[in-house]
Amino acid sequence: MTSSRLSGSSTVVVPNALTVDVEDYFHVAALAPSIHRDSWPSRESRVAANTRKLLAILDQYQVRGTFFVLGWVAERHPQLVREVASCGHEIACHGFSHRLVYEQSPKEFREETVRSKGLLEDITGSEVSGYRAASYSIVRESLWAMDILADLGFLYDSSIFPIRHDRYGIPGAQRVPHRMLTPNKNSIVEWPLATANVLGWRLPVAGGGYFRLLPYWVSRWGLESINRREQQPFIFYLHPWEIDPAQPRVSVSWLSRYRHYTNLGKCEERLRRLLGEFQFGTVRDGLARLGLLPAADGTC
Ligand SMILES: [Zn+2]
Repeated sequence: MTSSRLSGSSTVVVPNALTVDVEDYFHVAALAPSIHRDSWPSRESRVAANTRKLLAILDQYQVRGTFFVLGWVAERHPQLVREVASCGHEIACHGFSHRLVYEQSPKEFREETVRSKGLLEDITGSEVSGYRAASYSIVRESLWAMDILADLGFLYDSSIFPIRHDRYGIPGAQRVPHRMLTPNKNSIVEWPLATANVLGWRLPVAGGGYFRLLPYWVSRWGLESINRREQQPFIFYLHPWEIDPAQPRVSVSWLSRYRHYTNLGKCEERLRRLLGEFQFGTVRDGLARLGLLPAADGTC
């Protein structure tokens, strides 16, 4: 049903989803204790250059993916959003402020999500149907956000990390793409971040810090096991700043330093290997091929 390029069996293929959370290095939750948001506008912005670098890499491998764009970035770089869309990638929503969902009230969440979705739709002229929360912050206590997303017309979400983590995660949540019931009995499609099943234990292999911290062969093994053994597509994510080893260094705790800065210099090469070894497409396309959503215009 699904495949990696390693498998050699190219029968019916549901591509894996390649996703990019478009934000700058100073938006990251791990660095937040050292970077006040009032200082964002005066910091050196590297998101446009890094996103263009990613666009060039994806173009080389002829991969189309989904870009979850932060509203704060879209407001300052509308041309960048247009460029991403014109390359054939899907534009989706990463909220506006990068505040964690469980630190917002439902009213605040609704307001900033409306603002961000509207902004992206105005820039691209196309409907935005996908959402990803800052730092995967839709957790058990903030599942109310799913009702707001469904109400605002989002067709899918990709914010649930089905693991235990200090900042996010719903341990025990479903691991594969599925239609879920919201607390108020609406429904929305969820594509949870990728975990490999290792003897019943969930190994996060979804990308980002895990991709940089784990040896490449571990990520590759885990992702291939999802495709081959489980016959499922996986969803993978990366940030533009993760292929930018020259980004300004911020003084933070050892744990945050470890998570943010480890192997930045190796990430681009690893991404190229990954793009050569697995098949990728947009989230929307993958969910359509799985029968969970209707096809978007011009796809399938
Ligand atoms: Zn983010």
